[in-house]
Amino acid sequence: MASVRLEGVTKIYPGQVRALVEVDLSVPEGAFLTILGPSGCGKTTLLRVIAGLERVDSGKIHIDSRLVNELPPARRDVAMVFQNYALYPHFRVYKNIAFGLKMRGLPREEIHRRVLWVAELLGLSRLLERFPRELSGGEQQRVALARALVKEPKVFLLDEPLSNLDVQTREQTRAEMKRIFNSLSATVIYVTHDQLEALSLSDLIVVMKDGQIRQIGSPEAIYHDPQELFVADFVGTHRINLIPGYLAEGWFRSPPADLSFALPLEWQGEVILGLRPEALKIGRGEILFTAQVGHLEIMGAETLIHSRRGALELRSLFFGRPEIKAGDQITLGFSPRELLVFEASSGKRLH
Ligand code: ATP
Repeated sequence: MASVRLEGVTKIYPGQVRALVEVDLSVPEGAFLTILGPSGCGKTTLLRVIAGLERVDSGKIHIDSRLVNELPPARRDVAMVFQNYALYPHFRVYKNIAFGLKMRGLPREEIHRRVLWVAELLGLSRLLERFPRELSGGEQQRVALARALVKEPKVFLLDEPLSNLDVQTREQTRAEMKRIFNSLSATVIYVTHDQLEALSLSDLIVVMKDGQIRQIGSPEAIYHDPQELFVADFVGTHRINLIPGYLAEGWFRSPPADLSFALPLEWQGEVILGLRPEALKIGRGEILFTAQVGHLEIMGAETLIHSRRGALELRSLFFGRPEIKAGDQITLGFSPRELLVFEASSGKRLH
């Protein structure tokens, strides 16, 4: 397995689209790194420049200690799995998996051994004689993954490989993937829109915006310790509550929410407070206030309570079934320790 290092990588598409801007990124050998970010922020482009499918305008890409900028995709020793599996429709599963190895000129016996190994690993042994059209979406996805695994590349680049699967198959394949990549100590760079997937699979998460990396860190750090408002707002299955106001002399005041409480920070000026929905509780907390229930979003084990105080809309995550209904007045509470404080003008986190 290998490390991947990008230094000042910039990619500009025709029409002055700055898809990547001075990207610095270091992926340690054997790490599972996930890229998160809004649509169009450059995630796929980042994978494509590492794979060698796009040339960069400036910057360096290293795989291990080797500079690969000038190497064609086939010589970079990476395997990329795309969202739309791109299987060969006229090849049976066996040949789909074996094809890349055949092109590399591996001996027949070796190819056979590897195909059987990977088919066993991914539960495809029974399906080797089928054509792609005779497989379910999840099975096709696993064939695409098998085709990448069988090459035993140094680096796996996966672009939303589970996006076309239903929830159950997705969970199952996700667990399998984690097990397989762990057992291979593979270096994986993974793009997904699924936040839960990112948080549960990764050693490291990169959050991108407008072609730039905004934060890189462990899932815990990205979720609990975001360094800017954008990251706090983007990451999380349920959107973080944002409370605008200002800080002065150790007090926070929010006219739109009609809230004020002590917040012992030296800093003075306009701020935005971030509070995760799970940290805003019914009837509990050091700071308590009333709000009016808007609607309830039932999500199985949890309920997301939408409420309003003044001009502020709030979300609180309740574990179980709350005994409240739309229109009720409720008391909400939180602990100031759970607050994330951001400077309003720059979005930077204040500590
Ligand atoms: P999504 O989450 O929607 O897949 P992404 O984060 O993967 O998006 P990219 O596909 O990397 O984003 O695109 C980054 C930017 O580059 C976008 O503005 C996109 O429109 C633009 N872009 C991508 N490919 C090309 C191309 N071949 N020519 C011109 N512009 C492109």
